[in-house]
Amino acid sequence: MERTFVMIKPDGVRKGLIGPILTRFEQKGFKLQEMKLMRIERDKAEQHYQEHREKAFFGELVSFLTSGQVCAMVWEGPNAVAAARLLIGHTNPANAAPGTIRGDFALEVAENIIHGSDSAESADREMELFFGTDAKPGIPSFDVDELDSYP
Ligand code: GDP
Ligand code: MG
Repeated sequence: MERTFVMIKPDGVRKGLIGPILTRFEQKGFKLQEMKLMRIERDKAEQHYQEHREKAFFGELVSFLTSGQVCAMVWEGPNAVAAARLLIGHTNPANAAPGTIRGDFALEVAENIIHGSDSAESADREMELFFGTDAKPGIPSFDVDELDSYP
């Protein structure tokens, strides 16, 4: 089992896509481990996208990410990092295949709805940044499977 960090960006939240996106991940078979609707500070946005700090679009990217609420999540499943990236689709929505989240819900690279970690190392770093120790496997938390045992 693997965990990956996924975040619905402010455009996705504004467009009312939290529900449809959760549905796609659940239908695929991922298990939701953590979820938080939040506003992020500039500092956290810069840390999150640290690998892009030299890029010309970095300022625009950070401003965009702090422009509204985001929905931060941790999903678990076999090969979760790669499987989530496939569900999300190509970075540029114009090149993203129909059926993927970016392919179905976005047109422009600057507003491409959703983020997914690009490697297991990035996933660990991003889960720590957004959820700290809560996202570590083995920490007891409410489990949706327990619902089966309720009358
Ligand atoms: P991802 O891993 O598929 O999200 O893509 P990258 O890690 O390469 O880029 C991070 C994010 O930067 C992308 O999801 C885009 O939202 C954004 N981005 C990439 N290229 C551009 C660009 O040319 N202009 C702007 N404004 N944003 C960009
Ligand atoms: Mg990336």
